[in-house]
Amino acid sequence: MPASSSTLSSSMVSASSTTTSPQLIHARWIIPVEPRGVVLEDHCVVVANGRIAAILPGAEAREQYPDVHETSLGQHVLIPGLINLHTHATMTLMRGLADDTPLMTWLQEHIWPAETQHLSAQFVFDGTELATAEMIRSGTTCFADMYFYHDVAARAALKSGMRAALGGAILEFPTPYAADAEGYLAKGIATREEFLAESRLKLLLAPHAPYTVSDKTIQRVVTIAAEMDVPVMMHIHETLDECAQSEAEYGVRPIARLERLGMLGPNLIAVHCVHMTAIEIELFAKRGVHVAHCPVSNLKLGSGIAPVQAMLTAGINVGVGTDGCASNNRLDMLSETRLASLLQKGITGDAAALPAHQALEMATLNAAKALGWDDDIGSLVPGKAADMVAIDLSSIETQPCYDPESHLFHAASREHVTHSWVAGELLLDNGALTRIDVNELKTKARIWQQRLRPNP
Ligand SMILES: [Zn+2]
Repeated sequence: MPASSSTLSSSMVSASSTTTSPQLIHARWIIPVEPRGVVLEDHCVVVANGRIAAILPGAEAREQYPDVHETSLGQHVLIPGLINLHTHATMTLMRGLADDTPLMTWLQEHIWPAETQHLSAQFVFDGTELATAEMIRSGTTCFADMYFYHDVAARAALKSGMRAALGGAILEFPTPYAADAEGYLAKGIATREEFLAESRLKLLLAPHAPYTVSDKTIQRVVTIAAEMDVPVMMHIHETLDECAQSEAEYGVRPIARLERLGMLGPNLIAVHCVHMTAIEIELFAKRGVHVAHCPVSNLKLGSGIAPVQAMLTAGINVGVGTDGCASNNRLDMLSETRLASLLQKGITGDAAALPAHQALEMATLNAAKALGWDDDIGSLVPGKAADMVAIDLSSIETQPCYDPESHLFHAASREHVTHSWVAGELLLDNGALTRIDVNELKTKARIWQQRLRPNP
């Protein structure tokens, strides 16, 4: 059967329960992530009803499944879809708006004023849609988001076809979205109810940070998260200033305060964790807290370098996130994960630190575990959803190829991502987005740019 690929119309997708005939996706290499370190050559993923039915040698698959739709990827490596464990998708509209400023100046003098003026449902929809286009094109199939109007972000995610875990930010102070912490919490609960039936969505609770949320609100979040059994995402120990401020105000660093309030547990995704003592690392490991590591944002805002190798060695589950585009300025999980690996080699003085297979685990399975979604995604295993991406290793920049796993991060880049599937649905077909109108998106981005900072 000749190599082929097809574009599904958006009307075909939302029905995850729809029965479809199997399809075969052949690739030069398949890295399933589980079992660790395995690289399959000339194999094929059999997809049926949006799930992985089998992974077989190519010839055997053709024998077992004759006359079904086939996609033959030449010199490609097929991996689980990358999972961006922490972002603020809407902030893609603020890409490059306030570079070269430290966190609190960046937030207080640039980002929060811009949000006060422009935050709206339309801003969130357009920004999230722009982010989904960039993420799909760069091999990300799932993202964990913290922002306002996350019901609107949910609609943008559904439109894109991506999988998303969304949390409405919870703060004490008012924004156009809510008046106070109770208002944000109420919206978080209502949004979860609204989208419970959507298999590609998961809702989180997202208290912004220890310095923007009171003890009372943290205790409310702990109680509600336990009742609803949802993950909690919070920025923690991002800067030294945050730790010093907490010591001045509460007498302890934020992690000790959160421990006192019962916040540390296996449903918590602690974002950043740049400044961690050995005792704090030990406590996180003991409590089963997950960490979202965002190396570019931490460097760009001058916050520091998280001790990821020490956290992994202690047994903490660490995933990778890009953070928002306003502090990155790209949503590129391949380069983000590459940097994560290189930084740990550099700061530990150990070239063996964070090798490619572990980097890939962080960008896929570890993130799925943090989100409580590893029954469905994070590795290519029969029974899991067919969330996959293909990266072309045939170009001059990736020649020769001794180790496709290493090439993923150290030689290839997002421009080599050719195909992305979520639940077996093709969202990126040989570099073309199947659900998103790129020209329309570019026009929207330019309109927002004129509103946020008109050209002189
Ligand atoms: Zn963030």
